[in-house]
Amino acid sequence: MKEETGGRAGVKTGPAVGDRLTLRKSHPCGGTEFEVVRTGMDIRLRCLTCGSQIVLSRRKLEKMTAGRGKQAAQR
Ligand SMILES: [Zn+2]
Repeated sequence: MKEETGGRAGVKTGPAVGDRLTLRKSHPCGGTEFEVVRTGMDIRLRCLTCGSQIVLSRRKLEKMTAGRGKQAAQR
């Protein structure tokens, strides 16, 4: 797949180490809050509920955190 620079995904810098993210999809343990442990091509997250670590690609992480940066002003 082609990666176009300056696309719609090029706005954010991405998550930083220490950031806490709430994913749309919950961990098998039921938790949805994760802390960023390491960034790079892949993002490593630690589940704040059970403490296990998972690795997601940036693209996948963006999907799973979508709705936060969007103008989702739902009432
Ligand atoms: Zn967990």
